Amino acid sequence: MKDVLLLFDIDGTLLDSGEAGTRALNKAFQSLFGIDDAFRGISMAGKTDTQIIKEALSLHGIDSRNGVVESVMNRYIELLKVEIDNPRKRLKPGVKEVLHTITDLGLPMGLLTGNIEPGARIKLGAFDLNRYFPAGAFGSDHDDRDMLLPIALQRFARLGVEVPPQRCVIIGDTPRDVRCSKIHGGRCIAVCTGPYDADTLQDAGADLVLESLEDRERFLQFLAAEVN
Ligand SMILES: [Mg+2]
Repeated sequence: MKDVLLLFDIDGTLLDSGEAGTRALNKAFQSLFGIDDAFRGISMAGKTDTQIIKEALSLHGIDSRNGVVESVMNRYIELLKVEIDNPRKRLKPGVKEVLHTITDLGLPMGLLTGNIEPGARIKLGAFDLNRYFPAGAFGSDHDDRDMLLPIALQRFARLGVEVPPQRCVIIGDTPRDVRCSKIHGGRCIAVCTGPYDADTLQDAGADLVLESLEDRERFLQFLAAEVN
């Protein structure tokens, strides 16, 4: 089971930020462009931050060239550092136990997330989880989530972990997580701790659907039987 790489999504899978991300994005648009509630009606689950920001810019008729996207991201990160400190943020059930178990098994793990990397590190840092994830691929690497798996593999190869996509397991909570794995021949465990139910995630093509990461037994059975 050594040459398996586990890549985790963040929002809806590992944690719930208490809507810190959405508030930080809305406040960034308010402070830069004077627009209130700029992200109302924009669905975010499974999309990259850059994709979401570009959608909002387009919706409000703002030209996204000339460093505008970068300005939004910089302001977003400043605001996220403040917003993450809220009483509604939570780890998803079973997360700590699963991360401990994977560590004990000696399996490499990383991130595959639509969050830009500084945002990902702020959210994970609020729960002291950064130490589990030495590398990954982020919304700051590409707008399109479907392009992220090869980037994560390159980063791990540089760390001496050479794994083909067929032996990667993406753990996520949306059909977009499933697709960004399947498109490269990877595996996907989907969890129902985000906005999607089991039927939707199954129909999207997940190899295994779990109510939450609390179902550690089936998680480990999958790793042992399906990937080994
Ligand atoms: Mg997610």
